[in-house]
Amino acid sequence: MRYSGLIEKYRDRLPVTDSTPIISLAEGNTPLIELVNLPKILGHEVKIFAKFEGLNPTGSFKDRGMTMAVTKAVEAGSKAIICASTGNTSAAAAAYAARANIGCFVLIPEGKIALGKLAQAMMHGSTVIQIQGNFDDGMRLVQELANDMPVALVNSVNPYRLQGQKTIAFEVIEALGDAPDYHVLPVGNAGNISAHWMGYSESVRKETEACGLCNGQCPYHPKEPRASKRPIMVGNQAAGSAPFLRGEMVKSPETIATAIRIGHPMSWNLAWAAVRESGGWFNECTDDEILAAQMLLAKHEGVFCEPSSATGFAGLIKDLTAGRIKAGSTIVCTLTGHGLKDPDTAIAQSSQPHLVAADRGAIGELISRFL
Ligand SMILES: *Cc1c(COP(=O)(O)O)cnc(C)c1O
Repeated sequence: MRYSGLIEKYRDRLPVTDSTPIISLAEGNTPLIELVNLPKILGHEVKIFAKFEGLNPTGSFKDRGMTMAVTKAVEAGSKAIICASTGNTSAAAAAYAARANIGCFVLIPEGKIALGKLAQAMMHGSTVIQIQGNFDDGMRLVQELANDMPVALVNSVNPYRLQGQKTIAFEVIEALGDAPDYHVLPVGNAGNISAHWMGYSESVRKETEACGLCNGQCPYHPKEPRASKRPIMVGNQAAGSAPFLRGEMVKSPETIATAIRIGHPMSWNLAWAAVRESGGWFNECTDDEILAAQMLLAKHEGVFCEPSSATGFAGLIKDLTAGRIKAGSTIVCTLTGHGLKDPDTAIAQSSQPHLVAADRGAIGELISRFL
């Protein structure tokens, strides 16, 4: 049967009915790629799987949440949506709004937005509003605007976003036959780590158990547990933008990983709950560590993710080196977005093309230097 998106696939575990008008781009169903070279190169006896969310329709995991948020907005009669974004949320919102034939307004920070993401928001016909402020300013403003204007807010404070995003855990459990020992990922606004935890929790919770994430109202608990356990959750932040490490909000976050350049995470409590309940922790990684991790994945595994996405893997390298994650473990690392989103950062850190004459001899000589 043709795969037609995560709402169709998981409708028994999502808040939709038979009459809900589903807005989908066949998101989800992303590959779980086993890293075959890096565990050996880095010298660790573990199994690492990359859940490559860059292969969603707009190139990031944001599509999982956006299919739900836009579906519910359309169901409720909304004619327009609005969001603040570091880039990927606006790309997803713009695409799903186009699909639904509704308006879309996106607030993005001036500068500091990856080129590919900006191109997407513009191509899909959203109204792009560049503000003289950062993501946190934008977040505050869209909440105010959505309060008194006829626009539906589709940031991850919208509960349907996390509902859609939790399906990543369902897919991992299906692919591995159980939950992994560890699940590591980057953390910005912290919706995604919260959604991962919700998905894992719903996969093991018995119907009779209370659900801390949905006030006991949640009808999506499995009749039979699908996983025997939940993974230890490890959230990774960029050092210049690490409120979870500081234990308080960060006023002027700075990092090359623009998708997680967020000082006031909206899902603060849920993310702490995920980490504490799972026995996990938060790491911080420098920009250099993040870029090195991005390069390792690209060069040795053929997987090109954006800098923010590589932050989870950068933190994993630290934990493996420190012995915090034991040999023999199975680890899933969410790679949140595609490397093509941010070509400038990629090109700036790569070796540049060789310029030679259009001549057989000259090219042959160059090649033989690398053989
Ligand atoms: C949005 C995003 C993140 C951060 O996810 P949160 O839910 O805000 O923590 C990380 N990486 C990429 C590529 C993103 O687009």
